[in-house]
Amino acid sequence: MTKAFVVGHPIKHSRSPLIHGFWLKTYGIDGSYERIEVEPVNFGNFLKGFHEQGFAGGNVTIPHKEVAFAGVMRRTERAERLKAVNTLWVKDGVLWGDNTDVLGFMANLDQNLGIAWEQHVETVLVLGAGGAARGIVAGLQERSFKRIVIANRTISKAQEIVRDLERYSTVKLEAVAWDNIGSVLPDAQLIVNTTSLGMAGQPPLLLDLDRAPDNAVVTDIVYVPLKTPLLAAAEARGLRIVDGLGMLLHQAVPGFERWFGVRPEVTPELRALIVADIEGGK
Ligand code: NAP
Repeated sequence: MTKAFVVGHPIKHSRSPLIHGFWLKTYGIDGSYERIEVEPVNFGNFLKGFHEQGFAGGNVTIPHKEVAFAGVMRRTERAERLKAVNTLWVKDGVLWGDNTDVLGFMANLDQNLGIAWEQHVETVLVLGAGGAARGIVAGLQERSFKRIVIANRTISKAQEIVRDLERYSTVKLEAVAWDNIGSVLPDAQLIVNTTSLGMAGQPPLLLDLDRAPDNAVVTDIVYVPLKTPLLAAAEARGLRIVDGLGMLLHQAVPGFERWFGVRPEVTPELRALIVADIEGGK
């Protein structure tokens, strides 16, 4: 039996076991995927010891992604770029780390918007400059946009992302002050919320979407609630929307494939299972 895990602190709210459990059952694989709560002070030992305890690998979540990055022996180019690791596996005795959040975000847009959707997009507006924003900007940089503008309440964090990532592609990266979002909106054909605004228990993200182009797509990585106030406002304005649940589902694909040897599919049945769980938790 192949065993995998998700490790974090706290970990009890993670939906990853539901996702991987669904795939194990769907593909008839003799395996397990369990939550493991590890405090930061013990994470180094966990990293060194999980393989001997019989685990093929696992996912890493808050607050261990940076320490996992520092602790693995080899990293993918993407993980190297983001200085954070969310997926671990062992190959030929070597502990590897990858960051699949990037793939998850882009695959969600690709699945929902169809092939070549980005041909209509020149300017992307990314709201927020936290841990998730970094991966999202890295993913967007691999596509053929002209510019990516990052707006954050703390502008120094947006500037830091620009500084760290601009060398990796020819797409122009810019940082703008939170108060200047309005000046970018008329050009933004893709608007991405990566802040925690709009999440259950948080204030909504209020944008003047009347200023956005009629062909703009609005996406939110917050997925509780599924339709955030931002997405509801965008829909009311007649804009295309993509919710954040698909990012969570797609980021799980590469890990499952590495540990269990089958590339799983993100299907409507899987999505319905997680939607039911989110709605049940309301
Ligand atoms: P984080 O590192 O803590 O970053 C939070 C971001 O939100 C920062 O840019 C912060 O701005 C901004 N923010 C918070 N309160 C704000 C306010 N009142 N006004 C303006 N900006 C505010 O968090 P994260 O890890 O990037 O995660 C962000 C959100 O994405 C969370 O809701 C998380 O659940 C969600 N997420 C979803 C997925 C998925 O798979 N769909 C994956 C990862 C994360 P400052 O820098 O100024 O503080």
